[in-house]
Amino acid sequence: MTHLLENYNRLDFALMDGKECHLIDHTGKSYLDLTSGIGVMNMGYSFEAGKAAVNYQLDHLAHLSNLYINPLQEKVAEKLSANGNYKSFFCNSGTEANEAALKLARLIRPNKKILAFKNGFHGRTFGAMSATMQPKIQEGFSPLVPDFVSCHFNDVFDFETQLKKEEIGAIIFEIIQGEGGILVIHPDFVAALKKAQKNGILLIVDEVQTGIGRTGKRFAFEHFDLKPDLITSAKALANGLPVGVMLAKNKYASYFSAGKHGSTFGGNPLAMASADAVLSHLTEDFLAEVEEKSDYFYRLLSEQLNHHPQVLAIRGMGLMLGIQLDDSCDRAEMMARLREKGVLVLSAGKNVIRLLPPLVIKKSELKQASEILGEVL
Ligand SMILES: *Cc1c(COP(=O)(O)O)cnc(C)c1O
Repeated sequence: MTHLLENYNRLDFALMDGKECHLIDHTGKSYLDLTSGIGVMNMGYSFEAGKAAVNYQLDHLAHLSNLYINPLQEKVAEKLSANGNYKSFFCNSGTEANEAALKLARLIRPNKKILAFKNGFHGRTFGAMSATMQPKIQEGFSPLVPDFVSCHFNDVFDFETQLKKEEIGAIIFEIIQGEGGILVIHPDFVAALKKAQKNGILLIVDEVQTGIGRTGKRFAFEHFDLKPDLITSAKALANGLPVGVMLAKNKYASYFSAGKHGSTFGGNPLAMASADAVLSHLTEDFLAEVEEKSDYFYRLLSEQLNHHPQVLAIRGMGLMLGIQLDDSCDRAEMMARLREKGVLVLSAGKNVIRLLPPLVIKKSELKQASEILGEVL
């Protein structure tokens, strides 16, 4: 019997330890981790710089309220500022980062609607859930936050029709719909979003899963010529410590005046010490290596899987890849067989296997992973 609420479908095994890109279960069996704890452990389980920074902070000052100056927050915010163009608000999770963005968007564009895309994912709190246009996420929770509207992702015609019909103040979107099944934004759709932005609509990019080097850039929007008004991120920012951030262009900073929004734990010194170490590690060279490993992994996966009739597509960017399986495939059974062979993967969307390995994974491990995927699929 469990004393936990049963809102998760947990697998029947416990992971006890982690080393580099491997996890070890209660029997001592080792697994190659292609999940990163759902896109969190981008620097792997042996990120010594992060551990040292957190340990130091724990010995000195584990918590500091936002009533006082927090030098670590300043340091992390400077690193995130893109040469001083954005200012940061820190919180503790992805959904909270999106709540902050949605609230700020309402202040900047009062009484206008917020557009979100079908099949997207923005979180479980009421605002972010109201922006998550998936029946399975929203069902049973009505009434939702009003004045959210939706249209199809990557469908320029549907999008422009919706813009004509409704008074839209802001659009929230992902560059790659992650939970939705690794669906990458189309360049034509980015162009349509930019056109909307030119007409005064705020662009909120949700980089909770795609940010912090995951796609081979600091943020995935950098693959395009795009300057979002607001950016949210979380998962990998502190390599395992809970943190979220909402970045706003400098010109919007004054809308969040003192007392308008806040968080007790947000930007806590432990999380900031870890985030600072992560961002210091995220150099151009590191990102170039992610791109290189991505090309390598994609090529190997194509070799192993493309001839397979049940594999319909392999897609994604950087080390965020999805394998689209045919409807006839039993994904859960495949994931169990992969687990038996010592490889952990994620699911996403409709019959997609999602791969989010730690960014520090070795090429030899990617090769091993692709071979085991080839055997099992
Ligand atoms: C995971 C995720 C969230 C929610 O983050 P939490 O930390 O679970 O609240 C929001 N948006 C995207 C794109 C995500 O992948």
